[in-house]
Amino acid sequence: MSNKLIVQKYGGSSLTNIERIKNTAARIVRYAKGGNRIVVVVSAMGDTTDELVSLAKKINLNPSEREVDMLISTGEQISSALLAMALHKRGFDAISFTGHQVGIITDTYHTKAKILRIETKRIKKELESGRIVIVAGFQGISTTSEITTLGRGGSDLSAVALAVSLKADLCEIYTDVEGIYSADPKIVPEAKKLAYLTFDEMLELSSRGAGVMQTRAVEVAKKFNIPLYVRSSFNKKKGTVIMKKTPYIEEAVVRGIALTENEAKITLCNVPDKPGIAARIFNELASNDINVDMIVQNVSHKRTTDVSFTVPKETLLKAVKISERSAISIGIGEVFSDENIAKVSLVGVGMKSHPGVAAKCFSALAKNKINIEMISTSEISISCVVRKESGRKALKVLHLAFELSKEKNNGK
Ligand code: ASP
Ligand code: MG
Repeated sequence: MSNKLIVQKYGGSSLTNIERIKNTAARIVRYAKGGNRIVVVVSAMGDTTDELVSLAKKINLNPSEREVDMLISTGEQISSALLAMALHKRGFDAISFTGHQVGIITDTYHTKAKILRIETKRIKKELESGRIVIVAGFQGISTTSEITTLGRGGSDLSAVALAVSLKADLCEIYTDVEGIYSADPKIVPEAKKLAYLTFDEMLELSSRGAGVMQTRAVEVAKKFNIPLYVRSSFNKKKGTVIMKKTPYIEEAVVRGIALTENEAKITLCNVPDKPGIAARIFNELASNDINVDMIVQNVSHKRTTDVSFTVPKETLLKAVKISERSAISIGIGEVFSDENIAKVSLVGVGMKSHPGVAAKCFSALAKNKINIEMISTSEISISCVVRKESGRKALKVLHLAFELSKEKNNGK
């Protein structure tokens, strides 16, 4: 018998249909029988959220964000109630709640609200009376009493925030993969499941395209030092523990490689090479909510230079328009855009103390005749932009070059 307070989050793939909801209930029961207090956070069933978004678009291409939140928050309400019923069927006392009912208070930014605080009184009371508490993830109530959602993938954030507020002993994230891998196993079949990963590595991986967990959720887990257990809801295998420091004596230099094909490149030609120009271009983009990732500026010839940068593909059209406007007002030459790019990123905290990672990465790509178009580095990552058609090959080549399918990648 243990009496732990466990927060378990189940993603949409663990709740796609009645069968899966029943299986999920069975798993929850196993933990509850051990004497633990359980708070379950659910996503919407399967692709419900996408379906709701497309319904909205069929009526109005530019729907009011308040109404979008009213609509898409319903997905989680359905799955939470069904899961409670499945637990009742098994003879367990469970109760489902909306974000509002359990006091998840957010700011007023619809579709991407931030959690301000959680009033945990109601949850604590229910747990004390021996109930399994089920919370609809992804949603809250704003300071002006409107229903808000926390950004796509936001049930992860609900789970982590609840674990923080309730001072949970364990925060488990159940998904349809067995954990975090050294690369996407669908592209690199020999990729290894990682037993441990640091928060920083997970942040780099998830923000660079390895989409198992919502980046904001990992940020909050890091801030409050709440270890996360990412595992599959389809079996009992151990998943990946994401924590402050791994138990390894020496860190492998590269732990994982992410690939994203969701970015596009914009190039501004003949940009005047004088102070204040970059500030104007990028301020304009930032104030229009465009997230710029990599930036490369060439050496200037005759006082002008070329500047290239990447943006998420879904913001490309808007970013090009803004850049063209800046081009006219500043006196820049042409503006080009290119959607046929992919970005591969090597990530590992061991890079801090090991020189030569970049050189090894570039040589491996060169040997395979993959041209690098842009490079950026941080303390624990190196990213290269390549042609889109070379992206998957680049991932495989680098996975091999850094021997990531070997056991030593798991500290052995
Ligand atoms: N259902 C929401 C989404 O699909 C939230 C989540 O799954 O975490 O984005
Ligand atoms: Mg989801």
